[in-house]
Amino acid sequence: MKAIRIHEPGDISVMHYEDIDIPQPGVGQVRVRLRAAGVNHRDIWVRRGNFGAFPDPVIPGSDGAGEVDAIGAGVTRWSVGQKVVINPGLSCGACPACLKGDHPACRQFRIFDGTYAEYTVVPEENLVAMPGGLTFAEAASVGIPYVTAEDFLIRANALPGQSLLLWGATGGLGLATLQLAKLRGLRVVAVTRSQSRSEKLRQYGADEVLIYTSGDDLSDAVMSLTHGRGLDIVVDSVGRESFVQSLSSIARGGVLVTVGSTTGGQISFDLGRLFRHRVTLLGAFMGSASILPRIMPLFSRGVLVPVIDNSFPLEQADQAHDQMENHGVFGKLILTM
Ligand SMILES: [Zn+2]
Repeated sequence: MKAIRIHEPGDISVMHYEDIDIPQPGVGQVRVRLRAAGVNHRDIWVRRGNFGAFPDPVIPGSDGAGEVDAIGAGVTRWSVGQKVVINPGLSCGACPACLKGDHPACRQFRIFDGTYAEYTVVPEENLVAMPGGLTFAEAASVGIPYVTAEDFLIRANALPGQSLLLWGATGGLGLATLQLAKLRGLRVVAVTRSQSRSEKLRQYGADEVLIYTSGDDLSDAVMSLTHGRGLDIVVDSVGRESFVQSLSSIARGGVLVTVGSTTGGQISFDLGRLFRHRVTLLGAFMGSASILPRIMPLFSRGVLVPVIDNSFPLEQADQAHDQMENHGVFGKLILTM
């Protein structure tokens, strides 16, 4: 089969399109003939080696959709030919966190890698039936962004009528957060660096759009928009460049969700602002395994809308990474195979 493999960390030149053996499903495992893979920021961090050394070649990619191609011994829930989506969180399934449904708190939790390939093998519990009315590309676009966003909105106790500030609104996670927050009845203030994307963000439900230029203080704009009150929830995936502005943009008693650090993770900030304003700092990373099967049907009913910016054939995965790193996106980048 064809797959993208990375043998050592680096820039996009380390992504090699190779011929390798088709994997065999073991006990309790299912082999999926992938038709589409969703590209996530995580894939870039895997490629750069941010998650550690490379003892073996890595096939990146966590989100994917395709058809069941073969089943291993003991598999009861799936049969060959069924259309499926990969639910990419792996955990022990038996510890208190798993039993509670808080899978990312499992000490064995990790995110699946291996969808930049024609075939992959996953535990049968990591598959979700693909609802009708969706293309493979659309189904592959959902996974990590929607699971992550839905999980932190639940943990932040997001309520109808509350307000939410959304950094990085045009990315996959941003548009997932926007749609799920609107579904919950929140007022969303979206942040983008590009004036040209402002109207599209409104089409997907943004109530207000703030155009951010590096060096500006966004909290000034937030405070004038909210008559000095601030917003109930701030979702920050930007990190070093935005964190202090995020903290200054929160209403008293609000929640600061930190869900990434694309501009760096080392910061300093005034703890006084945190405790005097009774702000909750909430770290977000993936979500419960129960979320994807619950929300997938909302896409076939049109309640949620997959937003795809661009599709690339698998062999051009490096070009997809180049676009995500250097040219910006409005929605998801997809690989097809
Ligand atoms: Zn566990």
